[in-house]
Amino acid sequence: MKIGKMMNNIFKIFITITFASLILLTVVIYNDVSFQNNPLSPEIQNRLVKQNDIIKRNIHNTYGIDFNIPIVISDKLKANLFGLASYRNGEIKITLNKKRFQENDNYMIDYVLAHEYAHALMFHFGKFTRNNGGHTKQWQNICFSIGGKKCDRFVGHDDILIEKIGVVY
Ligand SMILES: [Zn+2]
Repeated sequence: MKIGKMMNNIFKIFITITFASLILLTVVIYNDVSFQNNPLSPEIQNRLVKQNDIIKRNIHNTYGIDFNIPIVISDKLKANLFGLASYRNGEIKITLNKKRFQENDNYMIDYVLAHEYAHALMFHFGKFTRNNGGHTKQWQNICFSIGGKKCDRFVGHDDILIEKIGVVY
């Protein structure tokens, strides 16, 4: 009787530990998979959309234009790039490096987005200079004018892509 009861308790503990381990394992796997398959967490997406709205409002107030361009979150960018502003045959686009969000979402939202918007606006105004990787004084002025925080001219990387197919400047 006594041994039977003890065995019963040991069995209960064993089952409990097994289930707890399974649940923990499921959570770990789920977290890993969810970051790989989902674009960004809803919380980060929310903050990104809000900052995007602020920048667009600043552009409207400063330059009087409704500047609507695609913002793409991609894991295909080179690892050393936070973001990229591209001009392809008249189409302007900003790509943000998904891998970099994992390390520092605040930096991506507060600094990188406005930085890339300033490049995008340079394209919009027909300024396609590659001097200093596009980080000219005019680029910096635009960056600050739309609420950019750092607007560093000496970032040491080239984050613009210009392809003018069939267009002569
Ligand atoms: Zn740049």
